Amino acid sequence: MKRLDIIATGGCQCGAVRYRTTQLLDNAHICHCRMCQKAVGNLFAALVGAPNDRLEWTRGTPATFASSDLAERGFCAACGTPLFYHGKDSPRTGLTIGSLDDPDLAPPGIQVGMEGRRAVIDLLATLPDCGTTETDMAQEAPVIRASNHQHPDHDTEQWPPQ
Ligand SMILES: [Zn+2]
Ligand SMILES: [Zn+2]
Repeated sequence: MKRLDIIATGGCQCGAVRYRTTQLLDNAHICHCRMCQKAVGNLFAALVGAPNDRLEWTRGTPATFASSDLAERGFCAACGTPLFYHGKDSPRTGLTIGSLDDPDLAPPGIQVGMEGRRAVIDLLATLPDCGTTETDMAQEAPVIRASNHQHPDHDTEQWPPQ
């Protein structure tokens, strides 16, 4: 598996858990398996590997759930954001691509867990476009912007700000 030397940071929605890796693997993928669907509360998981010895938890510690005897799932105990998949004894950790500060660093190249693939996935590109948060939720958007508790997409000295 090829390795990309790159500094990538990420973390959970509330900012209690942050990580930094100096290497990403070229295994970015979507997993459709039912275990991944439940673990991320979504139709599939998007994951990219980071070598354990290049991955550092720079703020907080993720909570874990052993989804089987072979794997654990990491998440923020404060806000619930799914952060990783880790196979027991594996030298790498599969970070959730959506938790990266820049998800575009790891565009998925393959899909696995096809037994769990939901039929709707085939239709995603055909769903009607109902606009952006700014247009579709015009009333709420300013309130959301003004009261945003989500940690920004970069490291911070202190969060939440005092
Ligand atoms: Zn959190
Ligand atoms: Zn899976």
